Formats: sequence, C-alpha cells, structure tokens
Amino acid sequence: MASIRLVVATANPHKLAEIALVLGDAVELVPRPVDLADVVEDGDTLLDNARLKAVAVCTASGAAAVADDTGLEVDALGGAPGVHSARFAGEDATYAENVERLLADLDGVAPGRRTARFRTVALVHRPDGSEVFATGTVEGWIAGQARGEGGFGYDPLFVPVEGDGRTFAEMGDEKHALSHRGRAFRSLVRKLTGNR
Ligand code: IMP
Repeated sequence: MASIRLVVATANPHKLAEIALVLGDAVELVPRPVDLADVVEDGDTLLDNARLKAVAVCTASGAAAVADDTGLEVDALGGAPGVHSARFAGEDATYAENVERLLADLDGVAPGRRTARFRTVALVHRPDGSEVFATGTVEGWIAGQARGEGGFGYDPLFVPVEGDGRTFAEMGDEKHALSHRGRAFRSLVRKLTGNR
C-alpha cells in the first residue's frame, strides 16, 4: 500500500492520467479541492510555476501537494516556447493552435535543425514549508507535420531520439517510459522514498 499521499495540483485529465500511470502504487494521489481557482502561472521558470501551483494546493488542502510544469524547448527558436508552451499561439490557445504556430515558425527549417526537448519539473510542497523537486527531460525533434492521435499538447509533433521515429502521439502508453514527465515523477518518487 502507498505510504506517500499527495494532493495533485493539476486539473488537466491528460496529465493526471499520465502521472497516475507513472506513479502506480507508489503514491496515493488525492484530487485537488474542487473550489480552488486556477493558479496564475506567471513564474519565470518551470520551477517557479510548479512551486506556485504546489503551494496554492497545499495551502488550500492543508496537505502535501504535488505539481508539475512542462516546457517544450526548440533550439531553432532559441528555446521557445519553453515556459510559455501553453500559450504559444495566444492566451487561450488550443493544443491544435499551438501545433500550427510551431509548424509555421519552423517552416523552411531543415530536418536536422529541428532539435528540441521537453523538460518537466515536478515538485512536492509540504505544510511545514519543505519541498522536494525533480526534473525530467527527453531529447527529440519536431516533425514536419502532425502525426498520431494519442497524448496531448505537442505530442503529434515530437519525435523522441530514443524511439523508432514515431511521434509521442503515435506511441500510446510507450510514451511514459521515455517521457519528460515519466522521468521527472520517477525521480521525484526516488527522492521522496530516499532511494536516490
Ligand atoms: P503545463 O504548464 O505543464 O500544463 O504544460 C504547458 C504546455 O506544454 C501544455 O499546455 C501543453 O501544450 C504542453 N505539454 C505539457 N506536457 C506535454 C506532453 O507531455 N506532451 C506534449 N505537450 C505537452
């Protein structure tokens, strides 16, 4: 049985499903309070934003909370969209609009120059003010067109270098073995359980 109990900050069903799959029995995940307003993610870094969300949920619930923040860093765009990945195509941009914007910004960029990585910071904040965090990254490149139906966000465009040429959206649950979020949360659990 899980000895670690964490209130999970995300209300995003895709992220929640991935986190629950990666953590398995190691951690009991508790939904965040339903009346909690969305936290404004205006930090300058992924770590700042993960902390903003975890602190807000910890304060509202009175229990240890876990939050994560992810950015896609595209080398040909100087690391953009990075911490602004959710709103790359505008404040309330859909996943499809962000994908279109990325394809447009990379129009004419040769395949060999479309390198990118996903980076996730996962952070636990406890009522006593202590925190533990871990980072996970996956290297890859941006495909010339969207491929696949699985995953979410930029998954139809991201091809991990450790894979076989499929995008994350074409990989189904195989994504989690390689993904930034899988790596960040597995590392976080190792830190929380002392198995570094
Ligand atoms: P968030 O701040 O962690 O919710 O992530 C910011 C944005 O990055 C999301 O709105 C998605 O567009 C994108 N994103 C986050 N995680 C993933 C992923 O695992 N695959 C593809 N896109 C992602």
